[in-house]
Amino acid sequence: MVPFFLIAQMDSIKFTIKPEGSTYSVDRGKTIASVLHELNLYPDAIAVKINSHSADLCTPLEQDVEVSLINASTAEGKEILRHSTSHVMAQAVLELYPGIKIAIGPSVENGFYYDFDYDHSFSPDDLETIENKMKEIVARDLPFKRIEVSREKAIQLFTDKMEPYKVALLNEITDATVSLYRQGEFIDLCRGPHVPSTGKIKAFKLTSIAGAYWRGDERNKMLQRIYGTAFPDESELQEYLKFIEEAKLRDHRKLGKELDLFSIYDEAGSGLIVYHPKGALLRRVLEDFEVKEHLKRGYQLVKGPQILRMDLWEKSGHIDNYRQFMYFTEVDGQKYGLKPMNCVAHMLIYKSRLRSYRDLPIRYFELGTVNRHEKSGVLHGLTRVREFTQDDAHILCTPDQLHQEISRVIDFIRDVMSIFQFDYEMELSTRPEKSIGTDGDWDRATTALRCALDNYHLSYDINEGEGAFYGPKIDVKLKDCLGRSWQCATIQCDFALPERFDLSYIGEDGLKHRPVMLHRVILGSMERFIGVLIEHYAGAFPTWLAPVQAIVLPIADRHFAHAEAVHKQLLEHDIRADIDLRNESLRLKIREAQLQKIPYMLVIGDREVENRGVSPRHRSGDDLKFMTVENFIEKIKILCSQELQIKTT
Ligand SMILES: [Zn+2]
Ligand SMILES: [Zn+2]
Repeated sequence: MVPFFLIAQMDSIKFTIKPEGSTYSVDRGKTIASVLHELNLYPDAIAVKINSHSADLCTPLEQDVEVSLINASTAEGKEILRHSTSHVMAQAVLELYPGIKIAIGPSVENGFYYDFDYDHSFSPDDLETIENKMKEIVARDLPFKRIEVSREKAIQLFTDKMEPYKVALLNEITDATVSLYRQGEFIDLCRGPHVPSTGKIKAFKLTSIAGAYWRGDERNKMLQRIYGTAFPDESELQEYLKFIEEAKLRDHRKLGKELDLFSIYDEAGSGLIVYHPKGALLRRVLEDFEVKEHLKRGYQLVKGPQILRMDLWEKSGHIDNYRQFMYFTEVDGQKYGLKPMNCVAHMLIYKSRLRSYRDLPIRYFELGTVNRHEKSGVLHGLTRVREFTQDDAHILCTPDQLHQEISRVIDFIRDVMSIFQFDYEMELSTRPEKSIGTDGDWDRATTALRCALDNYHLSYDINEGEGAFYGPKIDVKLKDCLGRSWQCATIQCDFALPERFDLSYIGEDGLKHRPVMLHRVILGSMERFIGVLIEHYAGAFPTWLAPVQAIVLPIADRHFAHAEAVHKQLLEHDIRADIDLRNESLRLKIREAQLQKIPYMLVIGDREVENRGVSPRHRSGDDLKFMTVENFIEKIKILCSQELQIKTT
């Protein structure tokens, strides 16, 4: 006979809830959900974390365990909630449209999507139908059940269900066992975890439909992607939907068209930007600003060619590490690569002369246009393109100067971001799998970047394995006025390229030494930055940046002569001005100028002609009192220099 205390030991386990650390003795084999229910604890938990892995609440307890509970209101909880909602959406779609094929359905930032293969294209009305079906499934409160099966069995199951995309995914997996999740009749290949049942889904909305290539590859079939989002409660969902509405109004693709800034033409090629007059002018203003700020900080302007011979790309390591993003051409039997980065020509300039430690640091700056073959699935307006211009610089310095140079770049970024009123966050990215250079170099470079960040007392995240192939980097993510983050500045530390190009300088000791190199951009891609600026300012650029700063609006024919004289005077004084000489009503002219978000409208009527001046009206609706043209010019210039002042905190 087994003594009683031994039975107790065999049949119960220690269940500890972190972070409080309360420990309970519970029956072995029970699920976490049932234990929590009995203990009347954490009714809001939707999943659990065991040894830093998230898992389902229906996980059975087999041994002593420490868990922390995941609530739907946390970032992790929302991800699980949204992923579960994507399964419910797929179930709804399958119930409504039999024969449709399902692809993948992950949670993404702020929501989820699911890709479907269906011969009929979904319309916004369909979204409502699908939402209603989803509500039914939520009301059924179906439990999400995890099932582990062999890969072969799963392949058989999805073959029988005629789900080719699931079979394709399974064929890529090497694991012997895979997990499936079932709710009601719907079954999906999935790692999980999920909420305990569909009833836990409280507030969701399907937001849009888009085309998406299977696996993001344009050679594959185009699938239909339905996006949606889910939140722990209705009020949070409503707040988010309001945010999307605002984001839609600010969408740079929409505003780019309305403000006549740029277009993308299928016939020219996807991901290639064509700047219209106002867009080109906007860009030029930004470029002039950049050149000035760089010269002020001791950078030298340089310019390399668009195409360079293959041998150079082999030497730089691009052929081995970056080939899939490059464009190539061949002329007279000579192969060339279009530059995907600007570094190589800068190496040649450095090498063109013997360098001494007294010459260092050398800072080469180029507004360098590069071409990178991004997959068509990721292309998006100005923010993801195939040809873009970087405000790129390469700083060559002694190892001793490295720290100071990194700090100077961080200062530069801080100054520029203050002008555009962006908040930003920093991230440190470390060595990726595919990389060149020695362990020692990577350590030194990573330490240098880390120290600079620490010295600034800046908090930063670390992205393991996300560095460039030649070195670690600091990425700066700026936050726009809607709180969205965008990649802009980067600082990359590189010991490899100076080695590959055998760069050297003569040190104080009279011997040859190897310089260290920093690659860095401040705004990043001009295209992306302009896209972000359009959304950040909702197209109403500050006066210093506005492609048209003022428009002259004569009321009638008799005012044209004075209007033209004013226009001419503005242009002569470097004010970017336009004039509207159409025979249209003043109201219409003002409305259009307002829609164009031009900072100042100069209405010219009898009074202005008689007194030889202007009565400016700001786009905000403020009327300024009558003034001479000289006064107006002066006013704009003062305003612009105020806007361009660096705000230090
Ligand atoms: Zn899933
Ligand atoms: Zn570079």
